[in-house]
Amino acid sequence: MFAQIVVDINHSAVDRFFTYRIPDSLPVKPGHHVFVPFGQGNRLKEGFVISVLENTDLALDTVKDIASIIEPYPVVLPEQLRLAEWMHKAYHCLLIDALVCMIPAQLRGQRVHEKTIITVSLAEGIDPEEQFFLLRNAPVQCAVLQIVRDAGEIPKSDVGKLLPGASSAVTALLKKGILIQRDTSVFRRPPVVKVTAEPHALTGDQMRSVEMIRSASSDPKHDTVLLHGVTGSGKTEVYLNAIQDCISRNRQAIVLVPEISLTPQTVGRFSDRFGDRIAVLHSHLSSGERFDEWRRIRLGMADIVIGARSAVFAPVERLGLVIIDEEHEPSYQSEKNPRYNAIDVAAWRVRNSGGVLVLGSATPQLISYYRALSGRYLLSSLPKRVAGRPLPEVEVIDMREELLLGNNGIFSDRLVELLSQTLARKQQAMLFINRRGYSTFVSCRNCGYVLKCENCDISMTYHKAENRTRCHYCGAVKPLPRECPNCRKPFLKHFGIGTEQVEESLHKLFPAVKSLRMDTDTMRAKDSYSRILSAFALGQAQVLIGTQMIAKGHDFPNVTLVGVIAADTTLNLPDYRSPERTFQLLTQVAGRAGRDQIAGHVVLQTYSPLHPIIRFAREQNYPAFYQYEIAERKKMLYPPFSVFVRIVFAGSSEETVSEACISYSRAMELSLRELLGEEGKNDILLLVADEAPIARISGMSRYQLLIKLLRTKRLPDAIRTIYDFHSSHSDVCDDVQLEINPQDMY
Ligand code: ADP
Ligand code: ZN
Repeated sequence: MFAQIVVDINHSAVDRFFTYRIPDSLPVKPGHHVFVPFGQGNRLKEGFVISVLENTDLALDTVKDIASIIEPYPVVLPEQLRLAEWMHKAYHCLLIDALVCMIPAQLRGQRVHEKTIITVSLAEGIDPEEQFFLLRNAPVQCAVLQIVRDAGEIPKSDVGKLLPGASSAVTALLKKGILIQRDTSVFRRPPVVKVTAEPHALTGDQMRSVEMIRSASSDPKHDTVLLHGVTGSGKTEVYLNAIQDCISRNRQAIVLVPEISLTPQTVGRFSDRFGDRIAVLHSHLSSGERFDEWRRIRLGMADIVIGARSAVFAPVERLGLVIIDEEHEPSYQSEKNPRYNAIDVAAWRVRNSGGVLVLGSATPQLISYYRALSGRYLLSSLPKRVAGRPLPEVEVIDMREELLLGNNGIFSDRLVELLSQTLARKQQAMLFINRRGYSTFVSCRNCGYVLKCENCDISMTYHKAENRTRCHYCGAVKPLPRECPNCRKPFLKHFGIGTEQVEESLHKLFPAVKSLRMDTDTMRAKDSYSRILSAFALGQAQVLIGTQMIAKGHDFPNVTLVGVIAADTTLNLPDYRSPERTFQLLTQVAGRAGRDQIAGHVVLQTYSPLHPIIRFAREQNYPAFYQYEIAERKKMLYPPFSVFVRIVFAGSSEETVSEACISYSRAMELSLRELLGEEGKNDILLLVADEAPIARISGMSRYQLLIKLLRTKRLPDAIRTIYDFHSSHSDVCDDVQLEINPQDMY
């Protein structure tokens, strides 16, 4: 027998199957992790068995033997082997890179081991009653015997701690053959916070959603349900019921949540409902915990896996349901190799296992809603908050007027008024800065005019060093105008307010107020995120100030006011998704207000109160937003009507990087033009090589090639050509990365 093996070496030259003979003594199966002699020196390398064959065409004297099996069970399931091959094709990553997604990192190189402890139990054939009599003069031994009898099997070290002299009593009982000891494997488990939440009686809308998910599991034509539920509509309750359904059919479920909302509370809520059948996978586990949680799943001891993006690879054999909560979160796209999208991987898995994928969000990705309306996904809506709670009232404040009235501070008069009322009522407030930190657009503080590119309808980015503005889509450059082209006033400013500035202003107005700040600066420490959130939840501060991080699905019942300092900042980022991201952020952050009995207030401060996106956010009207934005995308031929390909070049020498970018781009264009020919000459909508929007990151100069391709029947070939070209030219400078429809264009 022979095995096809992928060797664990991260290099394209060995990115293929190698054939090895299976010695008769080794029960090798597909998915086994093995040692094989490799290369000239026959050094032992790790590898993964992809398939087992009866025969080989190779000359038998060239075929080497597998040296040994590392773990006794196959570490990669048959379905995961196929998934890895799919990823290899879909994402053009090395097979080994796809395979190692399926296992805990520390399994490679045997850097993590099973933990065993010594347990004691009664030896076979021992009658405890008889022993109590025989040991009547040794009370400690009697007591120990009683404990062990009652427990069945108990860690030796635990017995030793129970009463004085117990350790030597155990030793004596072992010597007499009354007790026996053995090594028992244990699972290191992350601690779970106790949360008790009675299951709610479902609302009619919730019931319909659960029913739709149930019917999708027996409908071969539909395997994805988009659950569009407004903030506070009780999506989690729908998830819990769908999972219950799934496990009662003897299938297993995976629940993905954004890393940032994978709080102990979230896990606690699931564990309260499903107890020990839950496994948790996230980056804050110790490597032992991670390994053991993975092993519990692999060995069938868990039915429900909760985790961040990479948990989509969990080794469940009877997958019936994948839930992706907050499906619009960019974190479901991996930014490092392999650049997989967890939603695509989940879709592949449910298609293969006959399961259902549920995508939940109050603000679905435009593309998801597009697929739902075009019939590819089923659509289920929860249009109302539970228990008749109203959506918060959103007021839009025109900051241009504030300026005219002489207020040039960060807060509008109305926000100050509501803040003081909220603080006086001992309720909590959140202040949100809509900012991504890297980009500055130019706008007029008098009329709200934003400097845009004439070709691209994308905001121009201000470059401080050269005091000019640039379009990062087409490369157009413009000087910074002295006065506003619209109202002729000299109020043109480039933007950027930080959380610190907001905190300072808050303390000037309300010196006694306690506040917490959450942004990337305060988030350096590993657990600071959950520490700040629990401090706020416990009422240790009345105001929480933060960036997008505070917009996520948190449930703070005492928050009744949300202030958005400058709603337009992300609206004007040089990215075609800015309107979508802005609407999502504003709706999500507004959704933090008034989630309990008390109604909530939201203040959106803006310089463009009439912008349609701001209007839709005020109304929290997703369908209206969708109709508007999909029409814009269609007009500009942005995704989903086209595909963006972006290649980023980075390196320490600017000259080398810019030359690499330019020569690569010229050659790439030639290959593409050749492939597409006369017939497809209009398929390339855009092809620009230029400095990246962030021209330098940690000392590295960055350039980019941006290609926009029309969706035609030639698209798959064009993408393949791009990938092929890329594979043979990716060494033109220190770092070259190719992304298809990148999440961020900075
Ligand atoms: P979402 O995720 O849609 O924003 P959640 O699932 O967090 O909403 O639910 C919001 C609140 O409503 C939670 O406090 C939850 O316990 C409560 N809730 C959910 N379903 C019901 C129901 N059927 N009846 C009463 N309260 C409910
Ligand atoms: Zn442009």
